[in-house]
Amino acid sequence: MSKDYYKILGVNKAASQDEIKAAFRRLAHQHHPDKKGGNEEKFKEANEAFQVLSDAQKRQQYDQFGSTFEQAQAGGGGFDGFSGSSGGGAQGFDINDLGDMFSGFGDIFGGGGRGRGGRGGRRTKKGADIQVDVEIDLKEAAFGVEKTIRLYKNGACDVCAGAGVEPGSKTVKCKDCGGRGHITQVQRTVFGSFQTEAECPTCDGVGEKPEKICRHCSGRGIIKKHDEFTVKIPAGIDDNEAIHLSGRGEAGPKGGYPGDLYLRIHVRPDARFKRDGFDLHIKNNVSFSQAALGAEVDIETLDGKIKIVIPEGVQSGQMIRLKGKGITNLRSSGRGDLYVEVTVVTPIRLSRKQKELLKDLGL
Ligand SMILES: [Zn+2]
Ligand SMILES: [Zn+2]
Repeated sequence: MSKDYYKILGVNKAASQDEIKAAFRRLAHQHHPDKKGGNEEKFKEANEAFQVLSDAQKRQQYDQFGSTFEQAQAGGGGFDGFSGSSGGGAQGFDINDLGDMFSGFGDIFGGGGRGRGGRGGRRTKKGADIQVDVEIDLKEAAFGVEKTIRLYKNGACDVCAGAGVEPGSKTVKCKDCGGRGHITQVQRTVFGSFQTEAECPTCDGVGEKPEKICRHCSGRGIIKKHDEFTVKIPAGIDDNEAIHLSGRGEAGPKGGYPGDLYLRIHVRPDARFKRDGFDLHIKNNVSFSQAALGAEVDIETLDGKIKIVIPEGVQSGQMIRLKGKGITNLRSSGRGDLYVEVTVVTPIRLSRKQKELLKDLGL
């Protein structure tokens, strides 16, 4: 079972962004681990819920896939774009939006690419994000499809598990900075001397370094690797929409957090159907007599050919709506409709006899 983010924040499903933000602020204040009576678990939970519900795209995905999300993840791939805990906590906390509410609390949100140099702080350089183009056809977009993604990217070194340290080697204090992680540089100018603090280049600001670096990856912790996995493309996805897979990007150096993977979806144009949101349009020609008398005709749909009745007296340009024969709605899982646009084909090259008959009909 996946978590009910709405319940965690105590808001209803239709809550506005302001309500969600307000609910999160209240919970964050209440459970903040630095506070007396704070509760780190509850705080993290609220944070995770907020991460998803405050992001329109993640919220939409969660609304549809929330309940199947963990299953999808267990099956390898799938949507793990909105789990706050996936990818080893790769999702940092975006504090920009909340202004100074958390100023001074920066450390508990560590990660997500904000380097936290300084004494004892583990450096968290994030790996690069990757964008991959995925081409699918209209039917795959309508019903969803599983695609195999193959990447050649920076992955964590197998020998040192990404740490960059030769297995069995000790960690020692960095001599160049005395374990401080940063060094003081003195700049002399005509105005006098200035001291500037800079990150120690030897230990990358960590203050300690391995006695022996991993030989397999030369201490970088990362190595070029092939990665192959399947992803479920959700039914209803449209051209140019993207799927965000947290932590599936390049591995971060020296055990840093991995970047994210974005799958940019391209839906190949279809010769028969035109898409309009979750609805489809198809053109169908009927003969003059079919239009006048009504007829049963075969119509192509995404589900195969079906017979429909063209009502007698149909006019050119008239639409016949086939309910539920469109594209699966990404949000509601119902289906859009298929509109058949009728074109009445006026007969040409009539024989003399046909012309006589038409005249007699008086039409
Ligand atoms: Zn290594
Ligand atoms: Zn150092």
